[in-house]
Amino acid sequence: MSELQLSNVRKSYGGLEVIKGVDLDIKSGEFVVFVGPSGCGKSTLLRMIAGLEEITSGDLTIDDMLMNDVDPSKRGIAMVFQSYALYPHMTVRENMGFALRFAGVPKVEIEKRVMEAANILELGPLLDRKPKQLSGGQRQRVAIGRAIVRHPKIFLFDEPLSNLDAELRVHMRIEIARLHKQLAATIIYVTHDQVEAMTLADKIVVMRAGVVEQVGSPLDLYDDPANLFVAGFIGSPK
Ligand code: ADP
Ligand code: MG
Repeated sequence: MSELQLSNVRKSYGGLEVIKGVDLDIKSGEFVVFVGPSGCGKSTLLRMIAGLEEITSGDLTIDDMLMNDVDPSKRGIAMVFQSYALYPHMTVRENMGFALRFAGVPKVEIEKRVMEAANILELGPLLDRKPKQLSGGQRQRVAIGRAIVRHPKIFLFDEPLSNLDAELRVHMRIEIARLHKQLAATIIYVTHDQVEAMTLADKIVVMRAGVVEQVGSPLDLYDDPANLFVAGFIGSPK
């Protein structure tokens, strides 16, 4: 059963079509990774799923309900950005609770969820710090924490590790894989890092110029790439 479905989804900016009819089925609990060159439309697709960008035509459904015009806060989705986008004047605790406070969630419940996320991400000792007192990896964990407290069914990650140095990237990749198992959540993840894609994904979606070139497991894509472009991107010998 598919949890999230895209049917012939298109996006134009002015006269320029940047997403050209994307069809996709994502199952509950799946870890789906989008790869493709810069400018191919990965972020645009993610932002349309999140509701931060209008869909020009086509349908987005979640649990068989049409989501095209549903408010972002009512889609059961939380997005983690590359830039972290933490509030500099707020502590880690306040950053993680902010969206819930904004949504009117009771204080006791907010504290409970913040502590739960802090435990999962090992942020307990850092709750009273401000973002500038954190390392890059710690900031990224706070950004993930802000998503976790919302108890989304679906997490969207847009190149979450690309601002980290190589060593930290490997560490965070393992953390994200662990998180996926622990939360049993659906994750849709954009990266241009082939190793991240091959190690994290249940399913990889290879995009080029607004079109999906191939969808498959890492092994499928490696063993049987649809064309030279996919082969080149995945690194298989075809
Ligand atoms: P990716 O995330 O794969 O690098 P994007 O989704 O950011 O690609 O961009 C896809 C295409 O859409 C690019 O050509 C980009 O210039 C264009 N684009 C993205 N956002 C806008 C916008 N707000 N206005 C006009 N063009 C945009
Ligand atoms: Mg992008």
